[in-house]
Amino acid sequence: MNVRGATTRTWRLASCEGKSAFRSHAAAAADAKRIAQRSEKRLQVYHCRHCHHFHIGNSIERGAEFRRMPDKRKRFGVFARNAHGVESLVGWSDDADGGKVAEMISEAEGWTLSRVSARRKKAA
Ligand SMILES: [Zn+2]
Repeated sequence: MNVRGATTRTWRLASCEGKSAFRSHAAAAADAKRIAQRSEKRLQVYHCRHCHHFHIGNSIERGAEFRRMPDKRKRFGVFARNAHGVESLVGWSDDADGGKVAEMISEAEGWTLSRVSARRKKAA
């Protein structure tokens, strides 16, 4: 996959690797509930657009963590889509491929890097 303005990296595959895939939302939800009871983790079930199964992931509230680290000196805005397909700015980076922020996105369940855009101060 080639994200506009970014280098080719296997963002999509990273979201499936090493995860249980469920055929139905109900099966995944049942398992998520069991895990949540044991570990008190906040989990969510999401439909994977890549393998078309359901995965269990950490709460997408993790996305809020990205937001708390804005750095106005960084040159690129890093955007990602959550499990619902909603795109939001999740962080800033000096790397055209999103650097550390992109890595965090690839590790966060349910999030997919969507684009990395250079910040511009052009007045039209
Ligand atoms: Zn998958």
